[in-house]
Amino acid sequence: MSKKKINELLIGSNNKGKLKEIKDLLPKNIKIFLPQNFKIISPKENGKTFKENSFLKAKYYSKKTGMICLSDDSGLEIDLLNKAPGIHSSRWGGKKNNFNLAINKVFIELNKKDNNWKNKKIKARFICVLTIYWPDGKSVNTLGTVGGIISEKKKGKNGFGYDPIFIPKGKTLTFAQMKPNEKYKIDHRSLAFKKIKKFL
Ligand code: IMP
Repeated sequence: MSKKKINELLIGSNNKGKLKEIKDLLPKNIKIFLPQNFKIISPKENGKTFKENSFLKAKYYSKKTGMICLSDDSGLEIDLLNKAPGIHSSRWGGKKNNFNLAINKVFIELNKKDNNWKNKKIKARFICVLTIYWPDGKSVNTLGTVGGIISEKKKGKNGFGYDPIFIPKGKTLTFAQMKPNEKYKIDHRSLAFKKIKKFL
């Protein structure tokens, strides 16, 4: 694995919410590039796990550009839904990544399983696997997880994705009700980032 300091890095994602959070986490001296700078379309995420999808994205974008690439594959697992939406988290929002649609689908599926779910603690967790892929074929990956429960309704306007319905363990607010810096103290992406930052 490369011990050389990274000065330029491609973030292998076209998801605006994720890009903002990854940029917030990265050291400010690293020059960041995005797939849109190269007009590259997203790869098919046909892996079976977060780790496989994270790796395939980092490799794909690195091969397309010759740059070192950091990619993120993440999602929400809900125990009552047999860990759905899981690796399909972004696809639950349809082609346009509409998070309202995705959240409504969570509520519909929970109602189907148990119409009294709002009075129960519905266990869930966010998972994030970060991968760095170097053009010479080397790679590293790290995992971050945060457990919590599903809120009975959407709350808060910050963050992205499923943040308005996720209350992390030990807290009373959803991620979307927290300020970004409060979320970053405990969330899955920051935890994975803490483990991978030594390679940057
Ligand atoms: P990916 O681009 O296939 O990794 O999709 C990740 C999806 O998981 C996002 O589009 C969100 O729906 C969801 N997700 C991942 N991380 C977060 C988060 O921190 N907050 C809310 N939703 C998230």
